[in-house]
Amino acid sequence: MLKKKLKRNNKLHDKCGVFGVFAPDLGVARLTYYALYGLQHRGQESSGIAVSNGRRFKLKRGMGLVRDVFKTEKNIDALGEGILAVGHNRYSTTGSSHIHNAQPFLLKKDERQIVIAHNGNLINSQELRKKVKEITLSSTTDTEIVAALLLESKKTTWSERFAEVLPQLKGAYSFVIATRDLLFGIRDPLGIRPLILGKINNGWVLSSEDCVFPGIGATFVREVKPGEAVIIDKNGPQTFYQQEVKQEAFCIFEYVYIARPDSTLHGESVGKVRERCGEILVQEAPVEADMVMPIPYSGITAAIAFARKSGIPFGEGVIQNRYIGRTFIQPDQRMRELGINANLKGKRVVVVDDSIVRGNTLKDFVSLLRNYGATKVHIRIASPPITDPCYYGLDTPKKDKLIASRFEKKKPLGINQKAVDVEKIRTFIGADSFVYISLKGLLKAAGVKDTDKKNFDPQKTKFCMACMNGIYKIPLGGKENKFMLENPLYPSELIEKE
Ligand code: SF4
Repeated sequence: MLKKKLKRNNKLHDKCGVFGVFAPDLGVARLTYYALYGLQHRGQESSGIAVSNGRRFKLKRGMGLVRDVFKTEKNIDALGEGILAVGHNRYSTTGSSHIHNAQPFLLKKDERQIVIAHNGNLINSQELRKKVKEITLSSTTDTEIVAALLLESKKTTWSERFAEVLPQLKGAYSFVIATRDLLFGIRDPLGIRPLILGKINNGWVLSSEDCVFPGIGATFVREVKPGEAVIIDKNGPQTFYQQEVKQEAFCIFEYVYIARPDSTLHGESVGKVRERCGEILVQEAPVEADMVMPIPYSGITAAIAFARKSGIPFGEGVIQNRYIGRTFIQPDQRMRELGINANLKGKRVVVVDDSIVRGNTLKDFVSLLRNYGATKVHIRIASPPITDPCYYGLDTPKKDKLIASRFEKKKPLGINQKAVDVEKIRTFIGADSFVYISLKGLLKAAGVKDTDKKNFDPQKTKFCMACMNGIYKIPLGGKENKFMLENPLYPSELIEKE
């Protein structure tokens, strides 16, 4: 175990994982529990499951991992038999990490009940909150506002209520929503966040990723389309509303870091995209070395592909202790879980990581490898520089904390592509060489054609890459802040400090 004191984690935090099931013949609570286990990588702050038996909901939410919230069989059994369920794993992108913000939310008004789980981030939540007139909100998230607006709508059918509320939302959202006997799956018109429809026996599931399907016995049917709203009842899924789609903007960072490699998103295998990134890095930045090693775990797939393509032997190099619970891990703890697993003495090492955020962890990592005898340390990053914050659901540091932003050049690299002073970053990190994959390279790995054309414009692709080029396909209002809904709802001691 390494005792080195490191100040900040180099990683971005995941977003959220949503899951829903309509299957009156199956144990929906247990099924949702297994699915949330499979989506644990998308959120580790809180977890929850709501089950409806057709008449009323039972809900359990708590802080921590799925296994911390649902510790015993009794916890699952207490949710009862049901016809449908909604599950959520949270990493906070709006509102602090607190039990009052754990999802799913259950809201009631008169005879109506609604449960909601959200992956994404609304950028007009302050404005939306002012529209909630009757319902008292219990959280400081954007998600609960949407449920309140749906409940307060004067329209008579759920379809009409959705058609009234959805066009008012600005931002990224994949919702799984349920009434007592209906399940809804909804994606924003740009399709920023994923949502997959699957089949299970005589029922149906909705999930942030399809990697959970084999484990629960479900099969992939299709992705919910950008702007589409699907309703699921005993007759199966039906599109009941479609928002106008002017342009698509699937989050390319799902491929880089967020999603599991055994998921298929936006028509591409996440693992394959990461492999192609490793191969493209060899083409763009070949190097002579004795060993290729990843930073566990998200850099592994690209590192293996880099080793295979370059012919340089792959070595695990560092080992992460998989058995340390992550429930209350502090941001500086990642490195303390690492151990060195290779003889680095006299070796020239290539380190492949998926992304670099602040740079401090990588700097310490390079110094550590040298202490263990590495003679050369070459860094290859399987994503372009992260120059700008994400406002669409990934929790990123402020712009001035991002290492690529600190070393951003004024002159752009090409059409809609930022340039950074890589040599300065290399010096800061203390590596012998340091290379990011190009934005074109990442897009090529993600299946985009024509990246080699002279006038290739990344903005014309169906991806969001705002954190890499600063161009936000949903215009920002300038006041976006993770904690924008905190005050004055809650006393200051409940507000997580940024
Ligand atoms: S800004 Fe980056 S992380 Fe956020 S949605 Fe766009 S590509 Fe994904």
